[in-house]
Amino acid sequence: MEEPLEIPERMTELLKAPAALGLDVTTAKEVGMSPILAVHDFGYVQFLKHGYDEWMALDDDLGAQVQTGIFMPYDNPGIGIMAKAAKYQADDSAPISEHSWTSIYWSAQTALNAAEALLSDESGDSDVQLCFSRPPGHHARRSAAGGFCYLNNAAIIAEHLRQKYAKIAIIDTDMHHGQGIQEIFYDRSDVLYTSVHGDTVNFYPGVTGHEFEKGEGEGYGYNLNFPMPHGTDEAGFFEHVDKSIEAMSVFDPDVIIHVLGFDVYKDDPEAKCEVSTEGFKVLAQKMIALGKPLIVLVEGGYYLQKLNDNLQAFLSGLTDVS
Ligand SMILES: [Zn+2]
Repeated sequence: MEEPLEIPERMTELLKAPAALGLDVTTAKEVGMSPILAVHDFGYVQFLKHGYDEWMALDDDLGAQVQTGIFMPYDNPGIGIMAKAAKYQADDSAPISEHSWTSIYWSAQTALNAAEALLSDESGDSDVQLCFSRPPGHHARRSAAGGFCYLNNAAIIAEHLRQKYAKIAIIDTDMHHGQGIQEIFYDRSDVLYTSVHGDTVNFYPGVTGHEFEKGEGEGYGYNLNFPMPHGTDEAGFFEHVDKSIEAMSVFDPDVIIHVLGFDVYKDDPEAKCEVSTEGFKVLAQKMIALGKPLIVLVEGGYYLQKLNDNLQAFLSGLTDVS
């Protein structure tokens, strides 16, 4: 198997940035399972939690981790772990091994801690929260894992924040389209999803992310995709980001969740655009200038050598103007 891009060393690198800037990092407390089940299908969550044990308990050796080669999300009653994997794994980039659930669960709990901080904040001191957690989440669908994602952290906290905030905007600037977020809120007008990403024609996730996907029913108009042609330069990236921000400002959300991917960095193996280190500072300044409570979820970004610098640039943009 090819070496995956989403590896623990990413977090080691990212955590160097707040340390270098003297910023406090707190560790997540447990919020629990109910906010997860408010978004994800119960059978799917059971599969993530117990699938590895079921897979390993088989007499036949299917491999060291849960990874299906059969893909059958529909018309599949999920009888047996092989059928469950075929139902709940959307592609070959979200295998499950012995400790996966611990990471998946605590990644979601970390994001939920940011939401809790806003929910309990009366002074306005916790208006900006930044989360480092892995695995990332924006590709995770209601009942399917894929693209290194298992639980959709952005969607989970958006739903959780609804108890206090009427209108939530999720702005996604990761290199890839967050088809999981799109799917989960496609028919809703209380959560706006807007995404700037590389054109998905023959680029992951490959099947969604087009401009004509605008939502449905009550949610029509509340799903906005801004695909970038591959090879877009930094100015082009910000043109797309500005359009996305403009649309979001019309919505006038009560809180913003920013899905931040460092895979838009020019040297990232996944990059189809050319954002510089300085660009991440500009991006942060744009987010903070909106003047709304803000939760930033750090998701993609696979060029290890620059994760620290790029995150430092982003953090300096956040703290600059505030
Ligand atoms: Zn990405």
